[in-house]
Amino acid sequence: MSIAESFNKQEIIDATDQCVMCGLCLPHCPTYTLAQTEPESPRGRIALVRALYEGKLDSSETIISHLGNCLTCMNCEHVCPANVNYEKIIDAGRAVTYMQNSLLGLSQQSTLLFALSNARARKFFKACIYIFRTLGLIRLLPKTRLFSLLPETNNTLANITAHKSNGPTIAIINSCAGDLVSDETLTAATLVLSKLGYSVVEQKQTLCCGALHQHSGDLKTAKELRQKFIHSINQQNPYYLVSLATGCGAQIKRYAELDDISAEQLSKKIFDVNEFVLQQINKTSLSFRPLAKKVYLHKPCSQAQVINDATVVEQLLNNIPEIELVTFEDKLACCGAGGMNTLAQSELAKHLVENKILELKNTTANCLVSSNIGCALHFQAQLKNENTHVQVCHPITLLAQQMV
Ligand code: SF4
Ligand code: SF4
Repeated sequence: MSIAESFNKQEIIDATDQCVMCGLCLPHCPTYTLAQTEPESPRGRIALVRALYEGKLDSSETIISHLGNCLTCMNCEHVCPANVNYEKIIDAGRAVTYMQNSLLGLSQQSTLLFALSNARARKFFKACIYIFRTLGLIRLLPKTRLFSLLPETNNTLANITAHKSNGPTIAIINSCAGDLVSDETLTAATLVLSKLGYSVVEQKQTLCCGALHQHSGDLKTAKELRQKFIHSINQQNPYYLVSLATGCGAQIKRYAELDDISAEQLSKKIFDVNEFVLQQINKTSLSFRPLAKKVYLHKPCSQAQVINDATVVEQLLNNIPEIELVTFEDKLACCGAGGMNTLAQSELAKHLVENKILELKNTTANCLVSSNIGCALHFQAQLKNENTHVQVCHPITLLAQQMV
């Protein structure tokens, strides 16, 4: 069975039929904003996928590139008045082009996806990163895009012991990329949730949700990972699930739609960690040390898919006395990191973040928070190149650092 056959042809053609070609999504699309050409727009990509599925077009280098450039930010889907299921359409398009990618492109992509989704491979790479970091050798690694994404510091919260609690059980879903590069966000979430009275279920290993495979077109592996994830979480049966990365949270919420009806309950009990902690903080009396500093707030595109209220992270961090939160003047929401784009389309990704980096270079702020691990690593890599003093962390990490 070919990967593209995982989709029902007529279903995809029908999904593209929903697009009334109004173009309202175009100004919200980062790649269209840059290129100003139809094939780099959501409407253009929908037409390309339709033609592929109708057999009117064969996938060529150009088609692969137009579909590959999509950042899967879903800004288009969010503003579409016709409720077009763009995510389903782009996944279907990429399932066709996935196997036709150049041998080099495919092998690089598959290696990276394997390294991220395989717990043993991650453990090995983590140990190597730890040694390099401890010896201060990260800066000496070859100046490749992959190595530039490695943060230089170890877990700043590692020596703090979590509060013991017998409250309702909660499973924390870390991302594979987060698990690979730093345990800091996981430690921070454990500290905050335990203090809020929850009993954190320890995970033997980080489970991959399959989002990166799904959006890269490797639907077979995405499905295997999804089923493994559902099975493992159903066995643990925690009362709540919280996701540390907005991208993973968005994917898990989609599980039931992706043919795994057994995941319906799971999709309903997953929360974004920021949203969950905000709800709980409002009911308790946690206190935080003041932080008289300017902190830049990045709102990842994936945040809109998991939290309806765009002000959640602001509300959460405003619990820290004296903090001054700043949002980017750059009106283009997307930072260019979407999915694996920070690696796969690194020039496009750098171009999309450059105005934000310029703002950060000229600010007195020394911290930027983002709840998408891909965006955080992308920002971090660009800031490192510019030798700026701005540190990047997850909102929950900042909260845990200030918790009394
Ligand atoms: S995807 Fe939606 S907003 Fe964009 S052109 Fe089609 S109908 Fe209009
Ligand atoms: S997902 Fe983002 S990059 Fe892709 S077409 Fe939609 S708005 Fe453009």
